[in-house]
Amino acid sequence: AARSKDELRSPICCILGHVDTGKTKLLDKIRQTNVQEGEAGGITQQIGATYFPVENIIQKTAILGDLTEEYKLPGLLVIDTPGHESFTNLRTRGSSLCNIAILVVDLMHGLEPQTLESIRLLRDRKTPFIVALNKIDRIYDWRATPDNGFQSSFAKQPKHVREEFETRVTATITAFAEQGLNAKLYYENKNFAKYVSFVPTSAITGEGIPDLLHLLVTLTQSRLTDRLMYVSELECTVLEVKVIEGLGTTIDVVLSNGYLNEGDRIVVCGLNGPIVTQVRALLTPQPLRELRVKSAYVHHKRVKAALGIKISAPDLEKAIAGSRLLVVGPDDDEEELKDAVMEDLQTLLKSIDKSGRGVSVQASTLGSLEALLEFLRVSKIPVSAINIGPVHKKDIIRASAMLEKAKEFAVMLAFDVEVDKDAALLAEQLGVRVFTADIIYHLFDKFTAYNKDIVE
Ligand code: GDP
Ligand code: MG
Repeated sequence: AARSKDELRSPICCILGHVDTGKTKLLDKIRQTNVQEGEAGGITQQIGATYFPVENIIQKTAILGDLTEEYKLPGLLVIDTPGHESFTNLRTRGSSLCNIAILVVDLMHGLEPQTLESIRLLRDRKTPFIVALNKIDRIYDWRATPDNGFQSSFAKQPKHVREEFETRVTATITAFAEQGLNAKLYYENKNFAKYVSFVPTSAITGEGIPDLLHLLVTLTQSRLTDRLMYVSELECTVLEVKVIEGLGTTIDVVLSNGYLNEGDRIVVCGLNGPIVTQVRALLTPQPLRELRVKSAYVHHKRVKAALGIKISAPDLEKAIAGSRLLVVGPDDDEEELKDAVMEDLQTLLKSIDKSGRGVSVQASTLGSLEALLEFLRVSKIPVSAINIGPVHKKDIIRASAMLEKAKEFAVMLAFDVEVDKDAALLAEQLGVRVFTADIIYHLFDKFTAYNKDIVE
């Protein structure tokens, strides 16, 4: 494949963190139209992602002054749905397609349960990340200078503000150390491979956002160059499966490498086996100013990585979020590609305990199932059955097989999925315990508490 250092593709960035730390607000602030110029500065809203061209980033970081390092990237693709789901699904063959992540921590709250979960996911996938230490404006008496670089703003604060900031940063550094992570304020960090960087930010005043963007670009281009170069090989992942009026079931994908064309024959992993279909349309949202236009989408004949796009095609009803998407080329063996897309699910099936004893596990997507199974493996909780999607009666019946074999495992761990009414009722009747949660730790805690009870 042709590779060139001058032809870097845009890195893909995810935002993770505990609820209410300001993930959405930070994204909104970064996306904010340059009011003075009255335009979006080339920022384009895509499906499930926002593209920030480098010109826009240069503009936003200009306030930091003389930047010795020049930007080599064409831009940055930020995934819009903050949280675990998009991060865990941005995956291929066990590794992450997210090139860099922002872990948002509320400076006033420190580490919270979903922060810990995020750290664990980032480590499992070996994804580099920086920490946005958000809500600095909530320090009592903070004097805001909108959209300023952090260090300049900080220098203007009265002594007691600076002291409170330092106390809180030190406490957060200690909390990270307890998780086995060394951390430093980014401008004191001389070794990015060894220390996690804290970037103090405010999603309300915009302070620290220039620093955040600058660090994202410089870190990705200096440390990830190999992975960001254009390669001809297609790399595409299904992030969401959605029913859209007038289009039927569609898939929202992130194309992280290569090209996609209207009419391409594609293969994705389905609940009942591989799905082979043909791309009917490649769609992105209409730009805001074009809202008068009837159709909600712009059609594309051909698109290039990295971007988020909606694919309309027949037969996508059973497609699984988290699946790879492959294109059948002229020289490809379609059967091989079918096996390839099913491989991830097969691998997960292999983690089922050979003894046939273990809990039942169900999750919303391939990515979240994989994350949950990894956690259970490390926690030494055996698994006897897995599934993706809502919990139905048949899943409860399968779990009930444990009532005879090993009663303590007659349990359904449902991660981020609905349990339908009939299934819940049946579980009650049969004596299968169902635990639901949207944080993996919580599922684990519920199960271990129950397990202790039953053993005693
Ligand atoms: P998310 O759950 O992580 O997406 O959090 P949101 O972006 O929805 O923010 C949660 C709440 O915190 C909202 O009321 C925001 O207005 C507020 N918030 C977010 N960032 C900041 C910040 O930097 N400073 C202050 N004072 N409030 C913030
Ligand atoms: Mg949010």
